[in-house]
Amino acid sequence: MFKKTLAGMFGLLISLAGCQSPDNAQTEQTAVQETSAIADTVKREPRPKPEFYSFKGVEKKRVYICMDPAEDTFHQKHDCPVLISCASTFRNLSLPRAVEAFDRYNCETCSADLAYVFDENSVQFETGL
Ligand SMILES: [Zn+2]
Repeated sequence: MFKKTLAGMFGLLISLAGCQSPDNAQTEQTAVQETSAIADTVKREPRPKPEFYSFKGVEKKRVYICMDPAEDTFHQKHDCPVLISCASTFRNLSLPRAVEAFDRYNCETCSADLAYVFDENSVQFETGL
């Protein structure tokens, strides 16, 4: 009597185990879609017209500018790598004209020393005592 019950329970257990689907681990592969949104097509926008500039001492300086509408710099060196990469024509003109007529800033590569032209704080105060 007792043995029979045990055997029955044992059989029940086996059948239960057999019912369980063996591959419950069906891993849902969420395909990681590589959104190749590479933002390397940075469209260069020229900066707005310089608000402040002072040409004291460099009024006669000649500079080069690239006539590409995306460019907003002037160059002191005709062989500046930035200028050479210019896809348009370039012009040689005076520094004041490059800034006032063409809204150009100093090139960081070849004309970093002329940054003071646009620096309002570098105005030299004349102590008129
Ligand atoms: Zn340059």
